[in-house]
Amino acid sequence: MIDHPHFLPMSRREAESLGIDRFDVILVSGDAYVDHPSFGAAIIGRVLWDAGYTTGVIAQPDWRSDADFTGLGRPRLFFSVSSGAVDSMVNHYTARLRRRSGDAYSPGGALKRPDRAVIVYANRLRALFPGTPIVLGGIEASLRRFAHYDYWSDSVRQSILADAPGDLLVFGMGERQVTAIAARLANGEGIQEIRDVPGTVMKLDLARWRSMPHEGFVVLPSYTEVAGDRKAFARAFALHAREQDPFRGRPVAQVQRKIVVVQNPPAKPLSTAELDRIYELPYRRLAHPSYREPVPALETVQFSVTSHRGCFGCCSFCAIAHHQGRIIQSRSIESIVREVERMTGMPEFRGTVQDVGGPTANMFGARCRRWCGEGACRERTCGAECPSLQLDHARQIELLRRLRQIPGVRHVFIGSGIRHDLVLADQAPYLAEICRYHVSGHLKVAPEHISPAVTRLMHKPGIEVFEEFRRRFQEESEKIGREQYILPYFLSGHPGCRISDMVDLAEYIRDRRLYTEQVQDFTPTPMTASTCMYCTGIDPFSGEPVHVPRGREKRIQRALLQYRDRRNRSLVMEGLRQAGRSDLIGSAWTCLVPGDGGCGSPRKSGEESHS
Ligand code: SF4
Ligand code: SF4
Repeated sequence: MIDHPHFLPMSRREAESLGIDRFDVILVSGDAYVDHPSFGAAIIGRVLWDAGYTTGVIAQPDWRSDADFTGLGRPRLFFSVSSGAVDSMVNHYTARLRRRSGDAYSPGGALKRPDRAVIVYANRLRALFPGTPIVLGGIEASLRRFAHYDYWSDSVRQSILADAPGDLLVFGMGERQVTAIAARLANGEGIQEIRDVPGTVMKLDLARWRSMPHEGFVVLPSYTEVAGDRKAFARAFALHAREQDPFRGRPVAQVQRKIVVVQNPPAKPLSTAELDRIYELPYRRLAHPSYREPVPALETVQFSVTSHRGCFGCCSFCAIAHHQGRIIQSRSIESIVREVERMTGMPEFRGTVQDVGGPTANMFGARCRRWCGEGACRERTCGAECPSLQLDHARQIELLRRLRQIPGVRHVFIGSGIRHDLVLADQAPYLAEICRYHVSGHLKVAPEHISPAVTRLMHKPGIEVFEEFRRRFQEESEKIGREQYILPYFLSGHPGCRISDMVDLAEYIRDRRLYTEQVQDFTPTPMTASTCMYCTGIDPFSGEPVHVPRGREKRIQRALLQYRDRRNRSLVMEGLRQAGRSDLIGSAWTCLVPGDGGCGSPRKSGEESHS
């Protein structure tokens, strides 16, 4: 092992000061380098350093010139290329395909990465450093590893390995994969010989693929088939989704135009000890000192802690199961306590732990006996109704109590979303505990919709579960005499949702006087079941046809979710008329918008109070 540097080096000068004349690995990222475990370059770089590989960072290189790419020289082992924490197209464009004006992952919020960053960076590196292995990773590469629907070009694109000159692609959380690749390259293997690392995708030329036996592979319909046939696309999605398990998953192959991509099974989950070690590496929790302006994304996570990885929620619009997996991997309470104790020693720490969680805060400690042997069930999803699922809110309560007792900690908040159905399914007094100590005025909960037809396609619990949760939350808040509220997240424009469903949702919001600033309009991001439905009009798992709102209908749906906004009035009226609900146009308090001639407020006094 070699000593960790204060920050991972970003310049020759820093490298020289550490006695490095050539890095083992260079990470190229679309994000600014922030030395915090929520940022991919920091975590992968620290893990590589921990394994004994000197690692430098090229953050947000100017892709229009060579200088930034050549600044650290040629690495001894490989370049790792990532778009950053978010897919570059999601980062750049809104659901309505409007260009965003800022980038939270850049100093000062500046726009500093190209569209399709992985392809652009990899092309630059290949031209400048022919012969040096390039490994693609991060969310953009991970979720574009097979032929996929690309909302921004409204087309089916090939695997990113066919478009970018990468030698290997790492999918999922990449610690195991990058250290295995580094070790094998350091031992003298060529990148083309590394074919069997779990959690990687390789590419083969067509002749080689045709000459080898295909037994044991799940062969998806080819790129050409899925690009031209909706049913083939949906079938490919379902076939692929079923193999996303580190224990029972089989290799998956798909022919592209000129190559074949072959995915090994996902990497095995990390043990508690391994996760603890990764999160206790000496991150500074600060942006690299060369930056003159703050990186906005750091502000919201600087003093937040990751307690676990994975989510078994399997919401259709979320790709977490294809990236982190369904199996929950939790850290030890002792390790999280040590991490927070270290935070309290930072001059920037003001006593507030912003978040303790993972993709879903209250899955910490959840277990199933199948998860670490046979793998998660292929044909059913995990949930509160499964008797084998062991929820462990008691352990999370213990964790939160231990964190509250640390000298210097005044507040411990839960900023991650929570699965309200799991809270109700467990006897532990979790809700009382978080209401009393861990809600900073509001609690984020995501029922997403009220219509059973829509929540079924989203794979979310029905609205009655949210209602029960809301009732219990209010009860607990009243018990402690505190005014706090639920911030519900609702989604418009999801496949299966019709204008009439959105009218029902708008009435629900009106009747319960919910505050709905957090409006989400469905964006078809790569590799989700919902995106497959959007692209094909088919539910990939049942084969049933699905209504897909697009264009003006999608805009009307969004407007209905924000019917209080006067700018949406004409769209809301159009939607109400289409749904045969003109009774909701007028001056009665039940109306969502005033009539054509009206200029009065449709609101009942006090309507916008919080839930
Ligand atoms: S519960 Fe949250 S993290 Fe989990 S699948 Fe659903 S949206 Fe994704
Ligand atoms: S037994 Fe239940 S909790 Fe375990 S993997 Fe299967 S569905 Fe999930």
